[in-house]
Amino acid sequence: MVSSLGVSRGLVVVVCAPSGAGKTSICKKLVSECADVVFSISATTRSPRGVEKHGQEYFFMSKEEFSRASSAGEFLEQSFVFGNFYGTPKASVERYIECGMDVVLDVDCDGARQISSAYPSDSVTIYIFPPSIEELANRLVSRNENSADEIERRLKDAELCVANLSLFDYIVVNDNLQKAYEDVKSIIRAEKLKTSRRELSSY
Ligand code: 5GP
Repeated sequence: MVSSLGVSRGLVVVVCAPSGAGKTSICKKLVSECADVVFSISATTRSPRGVEKHGQEYFFMSKEEFSRASSAGEFLEQSFVFGNFYGTPKASVERYIECGMDVVLDVDCDGARQISSAYPSDSVTIYIFPPSIEELANRLVSRNENSADEIERRLKDAELCVANLSLFDYIVVNDNLQKAYEDVKSIIRAEKLKTSRRELSSY
């Protein structure tokens, strides 16, 4: 007879999307509305943008600092994206999932692939899809944060990711932010209820 149905480790929730698909809004909402969800702050060699602060959006590092941390095995995954290095600090993710917290990671497609193989049974990968590439282009232009060249690069990157969609466990189309958020929340909830993630003990 089953005597306990404990859920031990937290889940690593990998959220991937082209910029402009609404990924940041969904991640922020998850963290602010779900008490057991935290966001993993990445390290990057890119410079802070606008009001970004060290330790808040990213840990901003020089290339030398990043390379040192990487050689010391401090990253769970790392990738070179749009001319800069990005990496997920390993120690904090491990600490959170060990104590049962779910950790949201905002990474590129390559990072998603690396996390899937590092945590085959403790991670779920979700791709947030814009309603269309045209809509994505409109959002990037109206955000007014990127040059025309950058926008073109980001759109190309989005098309590349679309070619790798089979890599992801789930795809969520963000044509309505609240609905997309609810979809992501449902995915996390269902993943946590999986039999394989439960500690079944009997007597
Ligand atoms: P941005 O510089 O615009 O904040 O992010 C650029 C890209 O880097 C985004 O696609 C974002 O998902 C990705 N990114 C941010 N942090 C990490 C990370 O730790 N690892 C990987 N692989 N990609 C990241």
